[in-house]
Amino acid sequence: MTGRAVVVGAGIGGLAAALALHRIGWQALVLERAAELGEIGAGMSQAPNALRALAELGVAEQARVAGVPTDASGNLRAWDGRYLQRARPGDPRPLLAFHRADLHRVLLEALPAGWVRTDAGVTEVRQDATSATVSCDGTQVSADLVVAADGLHSTVRRQMWPDAPLPRFLGRTAWLGIAEVPGLPGSVTLGPGGYVLIHPITRGRAYWAYVTTADAPGVRYEREKAEVAGRIGDWHDPIPALVEATPNDAVIHIDIHQVRALPTYVRGRMALLGDAAHAMSPDRGQGAGQSIEDAVVLAAALAGEPTIEDALGRYDAERRPRTQATAHGAAKDGRRLTSEAAHRAMVTMLRLVPAALWRKGIAADGNATWRWQPPHLPAPGRGLLRS
Ligand SMILES: Cc1cc2nc3c(=O)[nH]c(=O)nc-3n(C[C@H](O)[C@H](O)[C@H](O)COP(=O)(O)OP(=O)(O)OC[C@H]3O[C@@H](n4cnc5c(N)ncnc54)[C@H](O)[C@@H]3O)c2cc1C
Repeated sequence: MTGRAVVVGAGIGGLAAALALHRIGWQALVLERAAELGEIGAGMSQAPNALRALAELGVAEQARVAGVPTDASGNLRAWDGRYLQRARPGDPRPLLAFHRADLHRVLLEALPAGWVRTDAGVTEVRQDATSATVSCDGTQVSADLVVAADGLHSTVRRQMWPDAPLPRFLGRTAWLGIAEVPGLPGSVTLGPGGYVLIHPITRGRAYWAYVTTADAPGVRYEREKAEVAGRIGDWHDPIPALVEATPNDAVIHIDIHQVRALPTYVRGRMALLGDAAHAMSPDRGQGAGQSIEDAVVLAAALAGEPTIEDALGRYDAERRPRTQATAHGAAKDGRRLTSEAAHRAMVTMLRLVPAALWRKGIAADGNATWRWQPPHLPAPGRGLLRS
């Protein structure tokens, strides 16, 4: 089956979806509300499952060049600098760390010219038995399929899933930044009530994030950098220096929300994908990775099933259990990692894990989430031959 799709949103999920559709010979138009393309935000990591999905999209090499292998899962430290686990030369480094804009660019550059339209906010969607239509800037665009990759506060989800509750604030907040500090190894540092993640990224930069608890969403500070420096300024080197080296206006503050588990990701000719379907706590570094997986599974289903209805049924059946289990696990990890009460016990427990066992757990096949294998998409061009 081939066809024409509208993808709502040009974040990592939307671009991955468009690229997956391109790989199977579909046409797609990506409508993005923002005036300019690019990812705001700081950095991120991608795990072996998402890297395999990127390979299936044909951009493995581009992603490898845009990313930097990070030791973040090997170097586990306490806030005073003690190593609870320490990476050694030759240890597995299954995570690649990116500036978000770099991963976004990898996907964008692989798309045919003219597939993405900016300044194109979708305001309404509707469908009948033969097509789905989106309204955007007073014009209507019809297609065989609408892929809603419009993020946490998805317009399409609000309209087509009117009974779905609003995203849930998880009681956590994060500060993020990028600083020009070359040569830092990746690490995760556990403190009472929060943790700091550091990844090296390209061009001699480092990405950092501090995640902690918050009573309510929306609390903002006049000087966000000073606020975060006040909270982790006495943690081990290089954390204070890293925050200090981050330009004031480059410190980002985000509250953490989760989309509550939906009973279905599909309605007729519409499919939710990425954060629109399953925005999750960031503590497993999986949100964007799951959206890339979604894209590959959706395209494989469209290429392999006789009708859109069958394909979306398969997509929903394959993606909902996995993404919702990942979201559940991430929320649990986030609670544990930011619990002041559990901090001391967790530090003791992590220090007691034998190094060999820890290394096994951080190998590319070390956990069920990372072990995921993508379905194979038809080789480029082959999809075009089917009609
Ligand atoms: C602190 C933090 C750290 C994270 N770290 C990681 C990590 O290390 N690894 C990882 O894989 N994930 C990570 N994530 C999760 C990741 O950021 C998200 O899961 C991912 O960005 C979701 O991509 P998306 O394309 O689904 O949605 P988004 O990135 O939200 O993109 C949605 C797009 O749709 C557009 N849009 C919205 N409404 C409309 C409309 N009506 N019409 C047209 N366009 C519209 C928006 O402008 C936007 O461009 C992290 C998240 C947080 C908060």
